[in-house]
Amino acid sequence: MILQGKKGIIFGVANRMSLAWFIAQAAREHGAELVFGVANERFREKVAPLAAEVGAGTPLICDVASDESIQTTFQMISHRMPKVDFVVHAIAFAYREDLQGRFIDTTRVGFHTAQDISAYSLAAIAREAEKLMSDGGSIITLSYIGAERAVSNYNVMGVAKAALESSVRYLAEDLGGQGIRVNALSAGPIKTLSSSAVRGLKGKLDKQAAVSPLRRTITGDDVGKAAAFLLSDLASGITGHTLYVDSGYHVSASVGE
Ligand code: NAD
Repeated sequence: MILQGKKGIIFGVANRMSLAWFIAQAAREHGAELVFGVANERFREKVAPLAAEVGAGTPLICDVASDESIQTTFQMISHRMPKVDFVVHAIAFAYREDLQGRFIDTTRVGFHTAQDISAYSLAAIAREAEKLMSDGGSIITLSYIGAERAVSNYNVMGVAKAALESSVRYLAEDLGGQGIRVNALSAGPIKTLSSSAVRGLKGKLDKQAAVSPLRRTITGDDVGKAAAFLLSDLASGITGHTLYVDSGYHVSASVGE
């Protein structure tokens, strides 16, 4: 029960395959009280039964493309939770056509959209969360090895993840004085709604299983457990870090494509 008595907000549950859902289940199992933020009304309806399973109440709509939506969401959160201990940012978006072929062909609007939703939103959320983290806390986001290697088809999302991991370091510096830690968890590939938009996912899963030191793909449970650790006081000395939860794939000599 490493999160006993902690209150947290989880952004990014879309369905039972979402990494955010595995994190929510692990956080709940470890005693946390949760609120969910979802992109729109359609997701609110789909996610409401999942929220109920972990006692998270009605999900709040938060479209991270809008500062107003983020501010309104945090106002509503402050009524449910005057003090927040952790935030999970498990949000990403790029146009499907930008997740195949050559990165060089990315349009200006495609690049901007991926950066806005997948990277800038972390800073925008952290800015509002800071106001409720009066006793310090932990913020985590989800990244992928495409932030640092040119992974085929990941393209514009890899560039957004590089900005996201850099944002983690700057936010850690900004918020460290208040005892707020900011970290990224770099997960190996798992089939979800978002990852299915990247062409060639099956090849990436097969390669992970073949060449990673653990010789297996990772599970949502692997991600949930590592996230619970980063969110908890067990990680009290860790900030600005990217923690790999990828069966060790990033140290394999075969990394790349
Ligand atoms: P997912 O599709 O279940 O989750 C993505 C979430 O982003 C969805 O809930 C979606 O509603 C939300 N979102 C998109 N646009 C939004 C907006 N404008 N406002 C609010 N929410 C918005 O997929 P996932 O794979 O669980 O992705 C979660 C995170 O994990 C992402 O950052 C993703 O890049 C990262 N990640 C995934 C993998 C993988 O292989 N699945 C690997 C490493 C990192």
